[in-house]
Order: sequence, then structure tokens, then C-alpha cells
Amino acid sequence: MVLKKIVKWARVRSPWILHLNTGGCNGCDIEVLAVLIPKWDVERFGVLLQGSPRHADVIVFTGPITNQTRDRMKRIYEQTPDPKFVVAVGACALSGGVFEEGYNVLGGADKAMPVSAYIPGCPPKPEAILDGIVKLVTALEQSE
Ligand code: SF4
Repeated sequence: MVLKKIVKWARVRSPWILHLNTGGCNGCDIEVLAVLIPKWDVERFGVLLQGSPRHADVIVFTGPITNQTRDRMKRIYEQTPDPKFVVAVGACALSGGVFEEGYNVLGGADKAMPVSAYIPGCPPKPEAILDGIVKLVTALEQSE
């Protein structure tokens, strides 16, 4: 019980994120990276960018799910330890966006994994991404 509380405290104070892109136009990736620079400084909320799903609490996902990427994305999701959260950033990650009609496009991130938060826009502004991440952290804090 105490250990559980400590783990939750650590996760809320410093959620580690994995930035995953399945190949949108990269506009959203630029905005996600902008959130990490000193101007928006997401690190002040303890957020730390990780390179491995095994070390991440939150997957920040951009781009549409395609026939090619679905199984890989599922595998990365499964490699992320529980409890894990997925934030879909941008219209492509929400529904496929401008690629929706593509012959190999299945839709948004929820075609491969459960999504905890959606941040709309094409691309969303860094302020919107920051707001989404802070809201997710607040929800984590209030959860059991
Ligand atoms: S939502 Fe818009 S900006 Fe983001 S990857 Fe898709 S097309 Fe590019």
C-alpha cells in the first residue's frame, strides 16, 4: 500500500513520456518538440522524454495508424509497463486526419491502443499540448 502510494507520487511528480510517430506530416512532432524547449518548458512539471517504452508512463502519439504500423504500435504499447497512458496529439492521431481516405490508413491511435487523452488540431499549438499533459497529470493525481 505504501509502496503503491510512493510509485503514484513519483509518477505524478515526474511522468516519463515516449514520443511515438507513425508518419504524419511531422507538423505535430515539431510542436511536441517545441513543448520540450525552454520557452514552454514541460520539464517544469517533471516530464522527461524517454527513448524506450519500457521506461515510459505516457505515450505521446502523433500520426495515423496504418496497416503497416498497427502491429508495431500494439507491440510498443504492450512493452510499456502498467499503468500506462496514451495521449493522441493532432488530427491524424485522433482520426487519421488528412490521411483518413488513404488506402492503407486505418484511422487514429485508438485503432492500435486505448487512448487516455485527445489533443485536437492540425497541428495543435504547444500550449494545447502542454494543457493536455497537465490535465492528464491532474487526472492521474486524482485517480485511485
Ligand atoms: S495532424 Fe496535421 S500537422 Fe499533425 S501530423 Fe497530421 S497533418 Fe501533420
